[in-house]
Amino acid sequence: MKNIWKLVFSLAFTLCLIICFDTSEISPVINTENDVNLPILMYHKISENSKSWGKYCISPAEFENDIKLILKRGFTPITISDLENHKNGKSPLPEKPIMLTFDDGNHSDYTFAYPLALKYKIKFVSSTVGAYPEEYKGGHVYLSWEEMREMEKSGLVEFQNHSYNLHNFSSHRKGALKSSTEEDDAYIALISNDLSVSQKLFAENGLRVPTCFTYPFGMRDDTLLKLIKEAGFTSTLGTYARMNVIGEDLFDLKRFNREHNYDIGKILDLAE
Ligand SMILES: [Zn+2]
Repeated sequence: MKNIWKLVFSLAFTLCLIICFDTSEISPVINTENDVNLPILMYHKISENSKSWGKYCISPAEFENDIKLILKRGFTPITISDLENHKNGKSPLPEKPIMLTFDDGNHSDYTFAYPLALKYKIKFVSSTVGAYPEEYKGGHVYLSWEEMREMEKSGLVEFQNHSYNLHNFSSHRKGALKSSTEEDDAYIALISNDLSVSQKLFAENGLRVPTCFTYPFGMRDDTLLKLIKEAGFTSTLGTYARMNVIGEDLFDLKRFNREHNYDIGKILDLAE
């Protein structure tokens, strides 16, 4: 009998631990008066081809429905600059901010996301890989610098840095992280060079110089973050699927991946 009670208590204790420490994305976010909840959605590609839909690709209708829901629920899409202006006391955030981000500089940012941004007058952030537009050969895979200039000029699209050429994932190196066989000095030189080359490219191509670094594949560590800060960046975007509570700094901002067949309503519920 004693053993049964022991088992009951241990099960109850385990259950309590699970409930208390459950960090799933539906946990409510409780803030103090001055804190601001900021949900950030992460998109990659938009395509009309249903065969492409999946974790990193959605349909144009899905993106349009997201926008409609966001606006209907009273949220206002903002950019990294808006966040920085809020932090520096230059301009307040809207009452219910949200950020829509697109990674990799896919050409669908121009063909699908941008026209919908114009239609609904909403802002989004696009993180581009510096080496990709250079390789643009009219194949309409990635954005060209010209398209980026047009989008930026609209005041609705803000470009940020997704590395110059570290958007690779291999056994040798995962994104912008240090490889296991690399010397410290060589790694520091690699990152500094990659960041300065990409920042220079934005300027040379008539674009605003980014202030945010979007980690390739979300891979980050403290060494990388230190180098990013030293290069003058004031924020970073990651891939940890949680709500942001805007506080002291803007590093390691978290994002919810918006995959195909994903209901963003539950993210909006969390933010309210
Ligand atoms: Zn990426």
